[in-house]
Order: sequence, then structure tokens, then C-alpha cells
Amino acid sequence: MFEALGNKLQDILDRVGRESKLTGEQVKAAMREIRMALLEADVNYGVAKDFVARVSEKAVGQEVTGSLTAGQTVVKLVHDELIETLGGQAAQPTLKTDGNVWFMVGLQGAGKTTSAGKLAAFYKGKGRRVLLVAADTQRPAARDQLEVLSKQVGVPVLKVQDGETPQGTRRRLDEYLKTDYRDLVIVDTAGRLQIDEALMDQLAALQAELVPTETLLVVDAMTGQEALNVARTFDERVHLSGLIMTKMDGDARGGAALSARSVTGKPIYFAGTSEKLNGLEPFYPDRVAGRILGMGDVLGLIERAQQADLKAMEVKKPGDFDLEDLLTQLRQIRKMGPLGDLLKLIPGMSRALPEGFNVDEGQIQRIDAMISSMTVKERHNPKIIDGRRRKRIAAGSGHTVQDINRLLKMHEQMKDMMKMFQRLGGQGGKGLPGG
Ligand code: GDP
Repeated sequence: MFEALGNKLQDILDRVGRESKLTGEQVKAAMREIRMALLEADVNYGVAKDFVARVSEKAVGQEVTGSLTAGQTVVKLVHDELIETLGGQAAQPTLKTDGNVWFMVGLQGAGKTTSAGKLAAFYKGKGRRVLLVAADTQRPAARDQLEVLSKQVGVPVLKVQDGETPQGTRRRLDEYLKTDYRDLVIVDTAGRLQIDEALMDQLAALQAELVPTETLLVVDAMTGQEALNVARTFDERVHLSGLIMTKMDGDARGGAALSARSVTGKPIYFAGTSEKLNGLEPFYPDRVAGRILGMGDVLGLIERAQQADLKAMEVKKPGDFDLEDLLTQLRQIRKMGPLGDLLKLIPGMSRALPEGFNVDEGQIQRIDAMISSMTVKERHNPKIIDGRRRKRIAAGSGHTVQDINRLLKMHEQMKDMMKMFQRLGGQGGKGLPGG
């Protein structure tokens, strides 16, 4: 996400940041470029204009402040303004101990059903007792789709029946909750291809019965400014509390995300970053701003590691780091998401990587296959893997003996590296190899 805008802004700020003094003309020229970059990223015109006006105002007469040069000060001003524009403080939906009913609304195809499943997974992971309610009677397959998602997440689903009235739905929900306690009910409502009165009436009627504590609009980031028109219309009829912006992974421009707060007055609670159930991230304006400017998102990286439960990766002693440990680590890392995406969270990395850079996920799969073809004894004690065994493992995993040799050598090198780090007084054998 934001690659196109990020690259342009980083270019501009790279140049500006190197200047120890800046003339008014230089600041003006940079601001013109920033405004162009924002507009090309489909940021709302007014938002782009105000953005540049605010930065310019603060940048005027900037001399060296503290340890920052004039150029660096401008970079910081842009960074701070990005955070403000993205919403300032991170916002989350209100969650009481009990009785939470969240409405998911949005146009068909925005990602409503998928996001309902993702939210269920997210909050189940936080210890909530979630119930999904499939009330999208408009899109033919939506209720079945939510049922499939509910099974994947491991939460129950209540399906609204054809022709059921909102009162009927409320009664069935009340009945359900009497027998199975749930503290968070997520309702996937009907969407349409376009906003129409019938849809709004239907939503308002269900809303009046179920009295949601949060009404979340799911919008597709790739539809750009149109997403925000949709938000305004929905807000007029069903009063939104916040936004979930989906398909950020496919949106290199980011205009909708950057304009959302100013144009709609609503915070973005979550960003959808893949089609998968774990492709949902709380929206932190400061971290997103950091990512746009290539400053990385170390906290995001740590959180993903925590989600993937990298505790399992702790190894006793570097010397004991065997192939079984290597296999466990690789599988844990893969759970964290595409490796290319992870690398971009590291400060400076998004710039250092060549355009279109991709980590070879296949390589990890090949190592997985090779280790999986070994016996437990071999994994724990690779020394016993002689020529005969290498041949067997190669044949079993569809590789050559040279591949197996390379893997064993790599494992030896990793062990050496871990020992070296331990000698250097690093973290010992904990965490990633060498980490
Ligand atoms: P609904 O009609 O609003 O319920 O939309 P769906 O939940 O069925 O989503 C429509 C399509 O968008 C599906 O193919 C989803 O897999 C896809 N989708 C939803 N959210 C995301 C996202 O954050 N990233 C990507 N890449 N695809 C998404």
C-alpha cells in the first residue's frame, strides 16, 4: 500500500532533507511537488491543499532547530502532518465487557463479509466470545460465505432466514444469546451495488431493532474518492462510528485512506491488507505515516511476530539448534505473512529493496519439504545424515543430493552465527537465528 505516493514523497524529502538551509523559494517548490504527489495519489483536493498550507506555514522561517537541519525539520513537519491527516491518535471501536453489537455496512463487493470474518478472528484472539450474524440477504452467497468463515475462525453463526422481519431477527438473536453467552455480536448486513433508498430503509429498520453499539462502514480503498462519497451517504442514514478500509494491499495510491478522516470525520479503525483471515490490521496513523515515508514500522513487525507466537522459536542453546528447530522457525515466519511485506516494515528497507522485489517463498517451501523428508532422529542429529541418507531424503522430497548438502551446510552456518552472536553478548539463543 501507498507505494506510489511513498516513493514520490521520499524522493522529494530526500532532496529537501539534505539541505542545511532552505530559502523560501526552495520550501515553496518542495510544497508544490508534495501537493502534486498527493493529488496524483487521488487525495481529495481540499485535503491536499490544506496539508501543504499547514506544512508551509510551519516551515516558513525554519532555521536549524536543535539537532535538526532546516531540511530535516521540513521532513519532520511532513511526517507529523501525515499523522494528523490520517487521523492523529489511533482509534478503536468501543468494546464494553458485554452486550456489544457491531453492524457491518457497505456496498456489495467492498469486503463486508470477509471483514466480518476477520474481525471475528481478531477479537476471538483477544478472548472475546464472538457470534457472527449473517444478515446479508441481498447477495446470494453471502450467508453461506459467512458460515464458511465462521467455521474457519471457530465461532458460531446465526443465519437470517429469507423473508425474516427485523423483529424476527431480534427475537431469534435474543433466544440464541439465552443459551449461548456471547459478548460481541458482529452483524453482516445487506449490501447493494449502489446506494439506494431501499437498502438504506432496510438497514435503518434492522438497526432500530438490534441497536448496534458500533456501525462500521466497510469501504474499498481502491475505489478512491468514491469510497468517501459512499461514506457520507451512509453516515446520513445510519450514522457511522468508524471505517474499515479494505484492499489497502492493492492500493498503491492511498488517496481514500489519506482523505477519509478529513472528508468523512470518521476514524479508520482497521485496514484490510489481504484476502486472508489474518489480513486485518488496526489502523495506527503514526505507523502508517512512517511506512509511507519509508521509515518502517518496527512496532507492526513486533506485533505480527507476537501474533504468530514466536515464543515457540526460543531455542535452548545455539549448539542445540537442530533441523527440527529450523523447520519450526520457518513455519512460524511464514505465518507472519508474505516475507516481502515483512521486510518493508523494517526502517529504510522499502527504499533499499529494488522495485517489484519479492522474497522467494518457494525456497522456504523447498527447505520445508527436505526437512519433512527426514526422520526425527536425523532432524535432531544431522551428523548421522550420510551419503545413503542424503540420497533417500533427496528422492523423498523431490530434490537433488546437492540441495540436501546445501541445506545441511546452511544449517551449520546458522549455528555458527548464533554462537558468534552469543559470544558478542547478544540475546543468546533466543529468537531468530542470529537475533
Ligand atoms: P461483500 O460483498 O462486501 O461482503 O464483499 P466480500 O467480503 O465478499 O469481498 C469481496 C472480494 O474482496 C472478495 O474476493 C474478498 O476476498 C476480497 N477482499 C476483501 N477484503 C480484502 C482485502 O483487504 N484485500 C484484498 N486483496 N481483497 C479483499
